[in-house]
Amino acid sequence: MILEAISKNFFLYLSNNKLLDRLAKRFGTSFGADKIVGGETFSQAIPLIKQLNHDGLQVTVDHLGEFVESEAESRKRCQEGVETIQAIAHHQLDSEMSLKLTSLGLDISKELVMENMERVLEEAAKYDITVTIDMEDSSRCEPTLEIYKALKEKHANLGTVIQSYLYRSNDYVDELQAYDPYLRLVKGAYKESGKVAFVDKQEVDANLKRLIEKNLLNGHYTAVGSHDDAMIDFTKKLVREHGISKDQFEFQMLYGMRNQTQSELVKEGYTVRVYLPYGEDWYGYFMRRLAERPANIAFAVKGMFKK
Ligand code: FAD
Repeated sequence: MILEAISKNFFLYLSNNKLLDRLAKRFGTSFGADKIVGGETFSQAIPLIKQLNHDGLQVTVDHLGEFVESEAESRKRCQEGVETIQAIAHHQLDSEMSLKLTSLGLDISKELVMENMERVLEEAAKYDITVTIDMEDSSRCEPTLEIYKALKEKHANLGTVIQSYLYRSNDYVDELQAYDPYLRLVKGAYKESGKVAFVDKQEVDANLKRLIEKNLLNGHYTAVGSHDDAMIDFTKKLVREHGISKDQFEFQMLYGMRNQTQSELVKEGYTVRVYLPYGEDWYGYFMRRLAERPANIAFAVKGMFKK
């Protein structure tokens, strides 16, 4: 337990290291990251998406990148998002898109991020592609939700994420109910203090179940973003007991994780969406996955030596 906590904190600390981030870009994903990252460019990810679709899995692609510091960089990210949407449509991929608001200028100004998001959402609406705003660390949660609400008034094709480790997550789900939200419900991946988030894993798990139940019973589309059998089984039982249609929810898992469970769920007739990240900025994402699960470290180290 203690070792697990040390390793988690260590990798979360590394995830914010800018020097290692720059080094990682130089070496590329071949050092194990390619097991969980779809490539450094969207073209590299296309064959993977086609294969996943062929296997009955739907996809949400995420162009990796966060903490953009200049307006020009945020506009470049926006343009890349627009091009990704066009490529999804052009290649007829069964894929949605996920993105982080810091990549579109959240830390610069609300006007900028709104303008960039409007562009992305207008393009996505042309092809009926849903865009989900990932949730970042707790300091960005409320600004993200404010932007989600403002955009959702105009754009039906928009989802976001609520993290059950936050004490306020129940309130957030309540506040969003008026917006007919498409919510991806997850436990949460960032290093948070006990002032804002549950420290005890059992409380995080119990709270995720409460959020899933609330959003589903209120009739809103729910994506259960978890690899945890306890969460998957809870959802299956809940929908069975309440006669909730398979059209009202889906399971989401990260690319490269629990592949067998993904295909079993597909065989059982559930919608399963794979979150497929790609891009040069894979370092922070990769480190957060290592922090989550010691087994992922062994998995990545094996990947380094298999070349
Ligand atoms: P955990 O609580 O990590 O593990 C519980 C149990 O599940 C483990 O004991 C094990 O039995 C099983 N398990 C877990 N992983 C594996 C595995 N790889 N292989 C085999 N068994 C496993 N977080 C955010 O903060 N913001 C986001 O926007 C966000 N988006 C996400 C999108 C998707 C599609 C997913 C799946 C996760 C996302 N996350 C996000 C991450 C999430 O918050 C968790 O950090 C992450 O999913 C780990 O929690 P878990 O519920 O999967 O399982």
